[in-house]
Amino acid sequence: MHEYPITQQIIKIAENHAKKANSAKVITINLVVGEYSGFIGESIQMYFDVISENTLCDGAKINIQRVKPKLRCNQCGTYFERKAFSFQCPACGGEGGPTEIGKEFYIDSIEVE
Ligand SMILES: [Zn+2]
Repeated sequence: MHEYPITQQIIKIAENHAKKANSAKVITINLVVGEYSGFIGESIQMYFDVISENTLCDGAKINIQRVKPKLRCNQCGTYFERKAFSFQCPACGGEGGPTEIGKEFYIDSIEVE
């Protein structure tokens, strides 16, 4: 449910962006959403369709670029995707630790008319 306030924020940011560009319509909002960000893309689109009515974002499309979480090897520094039940580095067999990759949540770009 926490997608609701964040979607309101996204619409506000996009509207400001459109106003600054002297545009009356937002066409596309490109979002980057990590799988560990805690936000679900489908929910954002669902709320967006409802909240954006009668705003400059009415009818705009949300484009979501998903980011898979990655671990970083403690020994050789390789970034890799975690396999089920394993933290093992595919390059050297060392142990991987968590990184910020996969926790992203931001607006990459906004396209206006
Ligand atoms: Zn390694």
